[in-house]
Amino acid sequence: MKTCKLILLFFALSLMASCNNNKEDNTTDNTSYEVVDRNDIQRIEPPHWWVGFKSDSLQLLVHHIDIANYEPSVSNKSISIKNVSKGNNSNNYLFIDLDISKAKAGKFNIKFSNEEDELIATYSLEDRLKPAEDYIGFSSSDAIYLITPDRFVNGNEINDVPLGAEGQAFMLEKTIDRSNDYARHGGDIQGVINHIDYIKDMGFTAIWPQPMLTNDMYEGSYHGYAVTDLYQIDPRFGTLDEYKTLSKKLRENNMKLVMDQVANHCGLQHWWMKDLPFKDWVNHQDNFEYNIDNWDWKVTKRSNHRRTTNQDTYASQADKKGNNEGWFVATMPDLNQRNPYMAKYIIQNSIWWIETAQLGGIRQDTYPYPDKDFMSDWAGAIMTEYPNFSIVGEEWSYNPLLIGYWQEGAKNKDGYDSNLKSTMDFAMQQKVVDGIKEEESWDKGLVKIYEGLANDFHYPSPKDIMVFPDNHDMSRIFTQMDGDEANTKMALATYATMPRIVQMYYGTEILMNDFDKPGDHGLIRTDFPGGWQGDTVNAFTGEGLTDAQKEMQNFVKQLFNYRKNSKAIHDGKTVHFAPFAGTYFLYRTFEDETVVLILNKNEEPIAIDLNYQSEMGLKGKTLKNIITGESKLWGDVIELKEKGVTLLTTKL
Ligand code: CA
Repeated sequence: MKTCKLILLFFALSLMASCNNNKEDNTTDNTSYEVVDRNDIQRIEPPHWWVGFKSDSLQLLVHHIDIANYEPSVSNKSISIKNVSKGNNSNNYLFIDLDISKAKAGKFNIKFSNEEDELIATYSLEDRLKPAEDYIGFSSSDAIYLITPDRFVNGNEINDVPLGAEGQAFMLEKTIDRSNDYARHGGDIQGVINHIDYIKDMGFTAIWPQPMLTNDMYEGSYHGYAVTDLYQIDPRFGTLDEYKTLSKKLRENNMKLVMDQVANHCGLQHWWMKDLPFKDWVNHQDNFEYNIDNWDWKVTKRSNHRRTTNQDTYASQADKKGNNEGWFVATMPDLNQRNPYMAKYIIQNSIWWIETAQLGGIRQDTYPYPDKDFMSDWAGAIMTEYPNFSIVGEEWSYNPLLIGYWQEGAKNKDGYDSNLKSTMDFAMQQKVVDGIKEEESWDKGLVKIYEGLANDFHYPSPKDIMVFPDNHDMSRIFTQMDGDEANTKMALATYATMPRIVQMYYGTEILMNDFDKPGDHGLIRTDFPGGWQGDTVNAFTGEGLTDAQKEMQNFVKQLFNYRKNSKAIHDGKTVHFAPFAGTYFLYRTFEDETVVLILNKNEEPIAIDLNYQSEMGLKGKTLKNIITGESKLWGDVIELKEKGVTLLTTKL
């Protein structure tokens, strides 16, 4: 053995393998056969993995012609194959369960053999970059900027229409067309990277870009929700390295990257739709016929979108299945999470992205559509690996009972525990709009906000719920407010001050709107001015913005920059007073910081007697206006000169 080691010291590394092979007791290298860097296999997913997870199992999906007729073995003695499964619908799949509990980081080979043939794939296990506890998810201390990446900034025109080796456009959508609201416009990851400073300067601490994974669909692929490869960044958005750079640069700025994920469905052109491994890989697979060459498919059953069937104790099985198993839309096959291989695939895919991109959170699309027991397992698996992480699930419901049902810790009658830290507050979104727009009466107007927040008693943790003035699926807040700037400011300040995580859609700060076709998705997701070469208006520099746009941009900047460091807003106690004479007062207090939100709907000047709010203990204190910077003594009366929001703080 000594001779052997000397040889190793002085000669080429290639000798190492033969030397090790001669060892009987291999303590320095536990390969049972030589590791070569080779890949004969078409696709293995996840493409690599890590050691050091709490879960010590790993399931590989192997996709290769006739692979079911091969026997796999691994080259590493510390890794064992626990189980090998074949699909019941295609011979081109193997699902290999590995026990990696004793494995160390490094490469190993998986050998696929049968009597006639041998194929080899090199697989890599890596060390994790940071402790699991250091993955800190978003919380009420965060303000999240939602971006439609195709529509924000075109930072790289070369990737607008990616070209193959022969100079041909290879994505199914072969052009960009900025005049078409439903076509690709060219925005990308580099564009976001180039403007992190702007987003940070506006006071935001996290970004949520709509999905950036490949959507190689024939049309309407710009929004990202029809994923056709769950392990690939869409080449029109950029590369995996660019995505990782985006995350890194955000972290360098103390900001988080929230990834938009979709467990419910994929895009019709997903690679596996041409060769489904199991007979139940997607729901309603029996009715599915598809000719990949001419974009011709038989429409299968659509979801009935009856989302209350998840909670309804009277719901029929037919309605439940109709919601959970129907396809969201005809071009988005409904994934069957009750198939254990699909379930494992989705969970591992989420973890792969958290670890690869060092994520600061996940936003999960269409939460009430997948199998809800699976969703609990999915969130549970992630939170077990990353105890300080955050996930927000989307359910578009105005009913606080449903919003509360999905939040971890809810005392649900059916015993359901979601493991989900955050849900979305469509209810308060609506209450704030109604509260500000409606004419005041006993049961209309500001009382909607007052009574809306009163529903917080129902939630396990109100401050972990995400509220928002607008998003990519609804009219811009300026449109919802009928173009009233004062009302828009009132709304923004209310969302940003209440005990919630807050999210705002890009461009809301410059009064982007959808007046021409209210609610039209393509229009809502308009290009951000200044994001494209030759734009005559540039919201990043202020060039060409109207005074009203500049004023709103400044308002948002003051509001969110204050919020960024406000313990009172992040974690403070909340007290509010029933609306009075067209006004509403909301207090947030943490130690010596008190923030007061005052909404005033009176067009004419009004003086409000503050003595009935004496329990807040502000009398005689000086308060600063967060937006204007002016300071005033809190006395017996406050004079409100015009309709709008007044946001005050004791922090001078
Ligand atoms: Ca581009």
